[in-house]
Amino acid sequence: MLESALKFIKEICDHGFTAYIVGGFVRDYILKVESNDIDVATNAKPKEIKEIFENSCLPSEDYGSVTVMKWGIRFEVTTFRKEISYVNNRKPAEIQYIDDLYQDLLRRDFTINTICMNFEGEIIDFLGGQDDLEAHVIRTVGLAKERFEEDCLRILRAVRFATILDFQLDDSVIAAIKEKKYLLKNLSYYRKKEELDKIFTSSKASLGIQLLLQLGLDKDLELERLGEITKTDSLIAVWSILDVVDKYPFSNNEKSLIKEINEARKLNNLDPMALYRYGLYANSVAGYIKGLDKKKIAESYQNLVIHSRKDLDITTEEILSFLKRKPGNYLKDIYCDLEHEVLYRRLPNQKQEIFAYLQKNYL
Ligand code: ATP
Ligand code: MG
Repeated sequence: MLESALKFIKEICDHGFTAYIVGGFVRDYILKVESNDIDVATNAKPKEIKEIFENSCLPSEDYGSVTVMKWGIRFEVTTFRKEISYVNNRKPAEIQYIDDLYQDLLRRDFTINTICMNFEGEIIDFLGGQDDLEAHVIRTVGLAKERFEEDCLRILRAVRFATILDFQLDDSVIAAIKEKKYLLKNLSYYRKKEELDKIFTSSKASLGIQLLLQLGLDKDLELERLGEITKTDSLIAVWSILDVVDKYPFSNNEKSLIKEINEARKLNNLDPMALYRYGLYANSVAGYIKGLDKKKIAESYQNLVIHSRKDLDITTEEILSFLKRKPGNYLKDIYCDLEHEVLYRRLPNQKQEIFAYLQKNYL
C-alpha cells in the first residue's frame, strides 16, 4: 500500500503541486498496523485534483475534500486549509485554502495524526507526532480545551484512538474532556454512533468502555447502561444492552432485532415458546448476554417440533371445513393454542391428532 500511496502523491507533484500523505496512514504505517484508506494533504484545489484523477468525486458534505478510488484504494485528498470559525462546536463554518503544509497541520486534531510523508517516503514531523507515538500518548495540537470547544467530535476521536491503539490520553486531554464534555449534546447522534461503533468493535473495546465511564462520558452520551456491558464480542449485543434505539440512529431491521433481543432476554432462552417466537438469532444474542451455552440454545432450537405456523400439519382451509365455520378472528386463538400444544409436545403434530383436538375443544 505504501508504494501506491507514494505513487499517488508523486502524480500530484508531477502536475506542479505539493502533496503529502498524512493522518491515519502514516500513523498506522509507523505502528505497523493496516490502514484502510489514505489521507493526502495538498495545495492543489479540489477542482485541480479532479482534473488529475479520473475516478474522483466531491462529496457534497465534506467541503474541500475529494475522494479518489485508484488501484482499489480510497484516497481522501484534502486541500491545505485553515479553519476560520466553527459553528455549534462542530463543523468549521468557514475555511480558507492556504499554500502551507505547516499551517494545515495546526488545524488537525492530535499530534499523532500530523505526521506526514513526502513522495520519497521521508517523514516530516513538525509537531512532535513521532515522540507521542513512541510514548503512546494522545495529545492535541494546541490547547486541548480550545480544540474540543471548536469541535467536540474530537473528544470522541480521542477516546477512539486511545482505545484502538491502546494509548494513554495526555493529562491535559483528560482535564479538557472533563471540562468540555457537556458540549457533546451539540453533536449529532449519527456522529456519536459512528465513533462509538468504532470503539465497540475494537479488539480493546472493554478498555474504551472503561475510559468512557472514567471520564463520565456515559452521561453526556446518554448511555445510562454503559456500565452493564461486560462482554464486547457482539456489537448488536452491546447496543441491545444500551437500549437507546429511540435516540441513536438504527435501521428498521436493527431496531426490530434489538427489540426482539431485549424481549428474549426476559425469557428462558431454552424454552420452546421463546425460541419459536423470537427465533434462533435473537435468543442466541440474548443467551450470549446472559452467558448461556450457545450450543444448547441452537440444539433446543433444532429440536423444536415446529419453527413456524406453516409447519403445523394442518391448513386454514382444513380447520375451517372441519369446524364448518367462516374465517374470523377466532382463528388466531386456535392457532396460538395449537402452536402452544404442539411446541410443548402435548399434541402430536399430525393431522388426525389435530382434528381430534379441534373436535374436543372447538366443536
Ligand atoms: P482513521 O482513518 O484510521 O479512522 P484518521 O486519523 O486517518 O484515522 P480520518 O477521519 O481519516 O482519521 O481523518 C484524517 C486526518 O484528518 C486525521 O488524521 C486528522 O489529521 C484530520 N482530522 C480528521 N478529523 C478531524 C477533526 N475532527 N478535527 C481535526 N482534524 C481532524
Ligand atoms: Mg483516515
